[in-house]
Amino acid sequence: MSAPETVLVRARGVHKAFGPLEVLKGIDLDVAAGEVVVILGPSGSGKSTFLRCINHLETIDQGFVEVDGEQIGFRLKNGRLNKLTNREIAAQRSRIGMVFQQFNLYPHMTALENVIEAPIGVHKQSRDEATRYARELLTRVGLSEKFDAYPRQLSGGQQQRVAIARALAIRPRLMLFDEPTSALDPELVGEVLATMRDLAKEGLTMIVVTHEIGFAKEAADRVVFMDGGVVVEQGPPGEVLANPKHARTRSFLSRFI
Ligand code: ADP
Ligand code: MG
Repeated sequence: MSAPETVLVRARGVHKAFGPLEVLKGIDLDVAAGEVVVILGPSGSGKSTFLRCINHLETIDQGFVEVDGEQIGFRLKNGRLNKLTNREIAAQRSRIGMVFQQFNLYPHMTALENVIEAPIGVHKQSRDEATRYARELLTRVGLSEKFDAYPRQLSGGQQQRVAIARALAIRPRLMLFDEPTSALDPELVGEVLATMRDLAKEGLTMIVVTHEIGFAKEAADRVVFMDGGVVVEQGPPGEVLANPKHARTRSFLSRFI
């Protein structure tokens, strides 16, 4: 990471409950521009909910998230917080790319059509410009031969790489990955992780929820361990993975050895 550090994501005291179930109990997290943060934690610890709060898929009960200096969902005006309009929310969301466990490609569209859909529909790019960039992105994720393939003609790993290209097509400042390899057959995990590793090297800011400890070791600048809706500990992968301070982190990691 290059100094001076620009904070791209700032989360403070983020709380979220679903009815009586308190899922996030005060998450504090900063992510610097260009940083790759891997979030680890047991199932049900609130990892997906936290990512969804960053991307407006959930509303926050207490606390805030800022991306690139703008508070998600709100604007400070004359000392008061005002809710953003739907159009302003769409604008904020359009600067964040998200990749899910289920790739959610449009089944009736080719790989290329999936990738150009948002740039044309939401970002009002010309078809030529969007197509040119989509070809570049699909080539970057190793799919130069598959521009015209439909999702059903692609393997899970190829579909997930199309989904990554689609998320990149909006030129996001931030990429969120929520267990991007969990739905894949084991032999297809490597190709998707390799693509993500390349993106990490290129300096993209990424928050990645994954159980792939190897990826965390090699690609993360920082590992964050979440449990029970809080950040239990965080630090460089060499410290958190090799030398966890907290019993909960140790117990979680012991499953992967
Ligand atoms: P993780 O991604 O770490 O496995 P989640 O953020 O998906 O955890 O979920 C945390 C808890 O919140 C779980 O108990 C889950 O069942 C619950 N939860 C998530 N989304 C909802 C929802 N929309 N309504 C009710 N409960 C939810
Ligand atoms: Mg999850």
